[in-house]
Amino acid sequence: MFKYDEGVLKAQLLELIRLAATDLPKDVVDSIKAAQQNEPPDSAAHNVFGMLLKNVELARNESIPICQDTGTNIYLVHIPEGISMRKLTALILESTSEAVDKSYLRPNAVDSITGKNSGNNIGEGQPFIHFEEWDNDFIEFNLMLKGGGCENVSTQYKLPDVGLDAGRDLDGVYKVIVDAVNEAQGLGCAPGILGIGIGGDRTSSHQTAKNQLFRKLPDTNSNPELAQLETKLLINLNKLGVGPMGFGGKTTVLGVKMGAMHRLPASFFVSVSYMCWAYRRHSMIVKAGGEVSYD
Ligand code: SF4
Repeated sequence: MFKYDEGVLKAQLLELIRLAATDLPKDVVDSIKAAQQNEPPDSAAHNVFGMLLKNVELARNESIPICQDTGTNIYLVHIPEGISMRKLTALILESTSEAVDKSYLRPNAVDSITGKNSGNNIGEGQPFIHFEEWDNDFIEFNLMLKGGGCENVSTQYKLPDVGLDAGRDLDGVYKVIVDAVNEAQGLGCAPGILGIGIGGDRTSSHQTAKNQLFRKLPDTNSNPELAQLETKLLINLNKLGVGPMGFGGKTTVLGVKMGAMHRLPASFFVSVSYMCWAYRRHSMIVKAGGEVSYD
C-alpha cells in the first residue's frame, strides 16, 4: 500500500508549482534559442526572442513568474491503486493557496456570476485536476500553467467545413489547423505550441488536445500518420510569417502535437489548444517513502 506524509507532499507540490511558474522547461528554452538563431541578428524577431530569453533567465534566477498571467493550473495526476483522489485534491488546493501567498501564482479564479476574485486561485474547476489510475507504484503529478491569451485563441472545428473546403479526413484536419493559426496571428503570444484533438465529442476532443501539450517538444507521435502530419504542419505553419508576438519571422509555432479518439459517425471535431511561448509545464514523481524527482 502506497503511503505518503501529507506535510511533506504539500511542500513538494508547492515546489512543483514554483517550478512551473518560474522555470521554463529546457526543451522549450532550447526551441526558443534555436528559433532566435534562425533569424537575422538585427531583425525584430531576433530581438523579441532575445527579450523572451532574458525574461526566462530573470524569472528563473529570481524565482518570479515568467508571465504576469500564471494561467489556469491544469493537473494530470497518475496514481497507483488505492490512493484517495479526494485527499490529493485537498493537498493540491492547499499548496495552490500557499503559492499565491508566496507570489508564485496570481489569484486567477474569478466567480463567473459575481465577478468576484476568490483571492487564492481556488474556485469551481480551478485548479483543473484530472486523475488516472495506473499500474506503477508511484504518483506522477503533471502540471501545466495555461495563459488566458492563448486560451482565447484556442478553438474547435466541426468537419466538414464548407468555407475552408475541409472534409472529414486528415487533409481536412490540416486545413482547419492552418486556419486556426492564421486567425490567431500574434494574439496568443506566438510562437505557439498546438495541442490537437481529433474526434471524440466536443468535450473529450478539447481534453485530448490539452493532454497533447504534456508531451515534450522533440518527441515523435507513435502513430505514423499523425507523426507525418505534425511534421508537415510544423514546417508549413512556420511559412505563414506571423513570427514571435506577430512581429513577423520564420517561427510561428514551436511544435504541433496531435491525438485522436474514436468519434460518432455523425460528428468529426477537431480541437486546437493553442499554448503561448510561456509553455510552462513540469512534472513530479513521488515514490513510496517520499523520494521525489522533478522534470
Ligand atoms: S498568453 Fe501566455 S505569454 Fe501571453 S500573457 Fe497569457 S500567459 Fe503570458
